[in-house]
Parts: sequence; structure tokens; C-alpha cells
Amino acid sequence: MIKVKSLDKYFSDFKALDNVNLNVQKGSIYGLVGPNGSGKTTLIKHLTGIYKQDSGSVEILGKTVYENIDIKSKIGYIPDDLYFFPQYTIKGMASYYKSIYPKWNEDRYKRIKEVFKIDENRKINKLSKGMQKQVSFWLTLSSMPEIMILDEPIDGLDPLMRRKVWNLVIEDVAERETTVLISSHNLKELENICDHVGIMHKGKMLIERNLDDLKSDVHKIQIAYKNDFP
Ligand code: ADP
Repeated sequence: MIKVKSLDKYFSDFKALDNVNLNVQKGSIYGLVGPNGSGKTTLIKHLTGIYKQDSGSVEILGKTVYENIDIKSKIGYIPDDLYFFPQYTIKGMASYYKSIYPKWNEDRYKRIKEVFKIDENRKINKLSKGMQKQVSFWLTLSSMPEIMILDEPIDGLDPLMRRKVWNLVIEDVAERETTVLISSHNLKELENICDHVGIMHKGKMLIERNLDDLKSDVHKIQIAYKNDFP
């Protein structure tokens, strides 16, 4: 579903991504893990077509992502920093999503509203950061994308809300084989939800494993990270 080969990205002289490979299978939940500054957001911005690689390839469903509108409409993206139009109400944002995602599902929108219990007439700029993340989830899940790319999605959420968010993601994958990529600086947080994990460090993909193999390699990971990894 997602295939990245030998990806390099420079910001001026600084090599932010160094020969990164990534393979995500359809219907899987993939955890992209690494400390702050390891390159997760930069990699994600290639997967969502925001950045163009300096070398290597980035494909989704066998097609190059950059400047590919068709592929972009299949991806639901929850960015690290929210891009919502601040003056919009949630309801207004929902209309906007409806107009760009052809598979928008109104029943789902109503069902998730019951889970998060946020008034849809509230303006985005009047919501806390955690609530904005919930709204982002709410709208993305209602858009029924084939792939969901979630950059640090649970930052700022309390434990109960985190569980609600994970349950929604797991349910969605079970129901319709969505493919999900989630980034986090905390491996523990993703352990119970992901089936595959890629660990990034200083712009490199250090290890890519399914979760069972990863557990048996955990000692190696601790040595690699020393005190750099939670
Ligand atoms: P992460 O998401 O893992 O915290 P990032 O992908 O945001 O890491 O950043 C990786 C590295 O690239 C960091 O050292 C960061 O300072 C640098 N970086 C990210 N974006 C830019 C940019 N637009 N210009 C220059 N350096 C950047």
C-alpha cells in the first residue's frame, strides 16, 4: 500500500532523511517510532505529497505520490500541527471535508460525535489543542479514506480519550481494511495497537519489524538508543 525506497531529503546541507525504506501492507497498522527530531514528520510529509524527495521513490498504491491529486484524495491526514481554518465551526469544517472526500459518511460523523461529545457549532479556535485533535480524528474517520496517516495523534489527549481514539482506529481497520500509519515518540504507546513498527533515528530507518520480532529485538534497540529513547 505504501512503499518508500532509498529516500533522501536535505534541508540545505542537513540530511534529514538518509536512505529510508518503508513498506506498509494493506489493512495493517504501522507504528513509526523515534525520538523528536528523528525524521518522522519529514517522512510523513513525503507520504502526503507535501515534500518532494531529493532521491529515491515514494509510492502509494503503486503510484508516485508527489503532485498526484488522485492519491491525495485517498489519504486522510492528521498533521502534527493542526491546519484547521480557525474561524470555522466544526459543522463548517465537516461541509468542507464532505466536498473533498467523495466517500464521506454522515452516519459515521454522527456516531463519532456521540463518542467525543463535542458541540458541532463550536468554532475551531475556541477549542483546546486536545479537542482539536479529536475533531481532526472525527472528520478524518468520517471521510472514509483508504489510508490514514496520523502524526503524533494522541499528543495532548488524556488516557481515556487515547483509548477511545485507538478503539476507533482498530474498529475502522477491522471493518474496512483501512491502512494506518501512526507516528509517535513513545514505543510503549503504540505496542498495543500496531502490528508493524519502524524505528527511526537521526534520519535513518533503524529497524523495521512486525511486533513479535521487535519484542525479541528490544535489547538491540535499547543499545542503539542508549538514553535517547523512552
Ligand atoms: P520528528 O517528526 O521525528 O520530530 P522532523 O521530521 O520534524 O522530526 O525533523 C527531523 C529533522 O529535520 C530535525 O532535525 C529538524 O530540525 C529538521 N527539519 C525539519 N523540517 C525542517 C525544515 N523545514 N527546514 C530545516 N530543517 C528541518
